[in-house]
This record gives sequence, C-alpha cells and structure tokens, in this order.
Amino acid sequence: MGIRIQFFGATEQVTGSLHIIRTPAHTVLLECGLVQGSREEEHCNQLPFPLPIDEIDAVILSHAHIDHSGRVPLLVKRGYEGPIYAQRATQALCAIMLPDSGYLNEQEAQRYNRKRDRDQAPMEAMYTRQDAEDCMRLFRGVRYGESVEVVPGLTLRLHDAGHILGSSIVELNYRDQGQSRCLVFSGDLGYREAPVMNAPERIRHADAVLLESTYGDRLHRPFAETLEELGNVFHAARASHGNVLIPAFTVGRTQDLLYLMAENFEKWRLDEWQIYLDSPMGIEATETYSEYRHLYGARLFGPDSHLLKLPNFHASRSSDESIAINQIKSGAIIIAGSGMCSGGRIQHHLKNNISRPECHLVIVGFQAHGTLGRRIVDGADVIKLWDVEHRVRIQLHTVGGLSAHADQADLVDWYGAFENRPPLYLVHGEPYAQQALASKIESQFDAPVTIARHGQVVDI
Ligand SMILES: [Zn+2]
Repeated sequence: MGIRIQFFGATEQVTGSLHIIRTPAHTVLLECGLVQGSREEEHCNQLPFPLPIDEIDAVILSHAHIDHSGRVPLLVKRGYEGPIYAQRATQALCAIMLPDSGYLNEQEAQRYNRKRDRDQAPMEAMYTRQDAEDCMRLFRGVRYGESVEVVPGLTLRLHDAGHILGSSIVELNYRDQGQSRCLVFSGDLGYREAPVMNAPERIRHADAVLLESTYGDRLHRPFAETLEELGNVFHAARASHGNVLIPAFTVGRTQDLLYLMAENFEKWRLDEWQIYLDSPMGIEATETYSEYRHLYGARLFGPDSHLLKLPNFHASRSSDESIAINQIKSGAIIIAGSGMCSGGRIQHHLKNNISRPECHLVIVGFQAHGTLGRRIVDGADVIKLWDVEHRVRIQLHTVGGLSAHADQADLVDWYGAFENRPPLYLVHGEPYAQQALASKIESQFDAPVTIARHGQVVDI
C-alpha cells in the first residue's frame, strides 16, 4: 500500500488549507490553515479537527501565511505534541505571525464580551498570543533540498515555491517493501515576474500532484503595465491632494511594494510623499526578509542595508504612532494590514479616508469572498466599520499584477515540467478558477485533472 490523502481545507475555496496524509501506520497533517472570510465562515475554525488529534504524528506547513498555518496554535492547545516541519524562514515568520493572530483573537473575544447581552455566554479567544508562542517549541526548521524522515518510511523535501519568504513546494516520498510513491504539493506558487522572490522550482516526476489554483482562470498583466499603473496612481493621488491606502498582506506583498517603491523612487516622485508601514508585524517580517536574504534574489536588502533605503519611510510600530497618522489629510502612502481589510490598522485608515474622494485605495491582493475588501472591490456604496456606516467615495484602483500567486500560465507551465503527466488534484481556488485551469491543463497535456472535494480520499 502507498499513501492515502484526504482533502479537508481549501477545497473549492482559497483559505483554510488542510489535508491528511496517511501511510499504513502513521498520519501526517499537511497544512493547518485558518479559514478567512465572513464571520460565519470563520466560525469553522473553532470546530473540531477532522481527525482525533492523538492520531496525528507530524505536521508539515508549506509557508507562513495564516491560511496555511493559523490553526497550529489551536491544534497544540487541544493537545498536539508532535513535530511541526517547516522551512527555517517559515518558522521565523510563524514566530511573528501566529502570536499576532493570537492577539487578534484575544481582542475579538474582548470586544464581543464587552458588548454581549447578559444571557449570552462569554466568548473565549480561539487561542491567545501565549498559546501561539508556546506552540513554537514544536517547530523543526528544514532547509530547501534537505531530506527529513517525518514518520517511518515518509521522507519530506522542501523546494522553493517563490511565493513568500520560506514558501515551499512539499515533496513527500514514501518507501515500503521496495516500492516508492511520490506526492508533490505545490503550496502557494509565486508569480514568474515577482520582484523579490525567485521563480518556483520545477519538479520532473511525481505519482500525484496537488496544485493551488487561486488564479487558475486569469493571466496577470505584464509586469511593466503594473508598474505603470502604480506610477499613475501616485500621480493621480498627488494631483488630488489625498492619501493613498494600500491594504497589504504583511508578508510578501508588503516587501514587494517597498522594493518597487525604492526602485522607482524618482520616477514615481515619491520624495513628495511620506511612506508609512503601519504594521508592527509588517516591520518585523521585513526584518526577517532581511535576515534570510540568501533565500531570494532581490537587491532590496543589500549586504549593508538594515531595512530600506527609502528616505521618507516610517516604520510605525506603536499604536500612538499609528494614531498620529490619522491627522494626516494628504501626502501619506499608508501600507497597513490586513490585506483583505477584514481587521487590523487598515480599518482605522479606511474610517478616516474612505468617504474622501481625493483619497485613493489601491487593492494589490486577492480579496476572498465575504471580506470587507471584497465588498469594496465589488462596488459597495456603503461599508460598516465598528457599527458605523461610511459612504465609499475613495478612488479605487485594483492592481492585480502585484500578486504573489502564479497566474494561469505559470500554473500550467509548472505542471508541464512533470515529465510523466501525473494525476493532478486542484486545491486552494474558487470553483470557476479551478474549472478554467482544469480544462486548460486537460486539453494541453491530456492529463487527468480532479477538483479536490471536501473529504475526498485518494490513494497514491
Ligand atoms: Zn500564501
């Protein structure tokens, strides 16, 4: 017998990545991500895991984004004591991101408890900052290319996925009685023209492949156009004397943006702006990028640069520094999380700027169904923040080409590198994107493509 995989999270959606890998004697959790979306959708995170926790022998994470790693502290809080394997930079980023996620949980529970009616039960934070800090002791850092036996017979190798720092393609080889089976999981793959990260590594052979499909139906615009678009936004914003808000995922997109701003500083006349990175976690993540700069090719963090060479760059760590930005009516470029506007400091900046037509909102990342960011992109006239309605009058720009994700051409090309055309299972995508990618790959390679369903079991 080989290995059996069961799909649980990120099936026909883009968050909550979680799959179960079983060998005849052991069980491994591949990913342990948080579902992100509307409050109802996020409620799923509190539900029991799809298997008894004492059955899990090891956990493997592809990268640090919360939708791939964010339920790890809950797993540990509920009794998991085994190893958690991840690339070393992923481990470093998780040490920043998971405690932050715990802190957000605590805040949400406090807010709920302040407002709840007497007859409603108090809410307990899903996990706290402390829970997240505690789970870090179980992490085992792995280098790209290193072989690690995670359970008897099952060997893990990570390859650069080029998506964010430490992001990995997960290769699992199972050997039993002279037979071997190989499963490759793409994790999230990077975009070939991404400014900071390397192109995803290509793999030649597998017995089955799990492929993300976030942008399975789309081609990104050429990168030169994206740069021009960004330049035009800054130009328009300078003319209208407003602020520019950029909701950005703290890890990945933020560093790409800062890199591009440094590269195009004169062309975009950024000397006329003050640039705020209003995110303690974004600042820490940027420092981690600097520490692990041997893992990618960008010139952003040269040998002697500490953070960035932008002269008008402000790292806004404390809440006082963040609140001070509220006074600025024009001339500020504010990069703040969360990337889908569903929490974090960006919401304060939206409150202050979203009804001002002279201001600009630049959407640079995927906005999942049910998030505030998605509602704005879909054209909402009014949004609600802290129970107060605000008219949406800000000028909206969607700059898609800055994605940290592969587009359809990249995904097809990456699969095309497998010389034996292995069976392909699509995960981490919304249904229309998956269908488009499935038909493209089926017609181009005559390969068997399946859109993974929740709970589906596949033997490899
Ligand atoms: Zn990701």
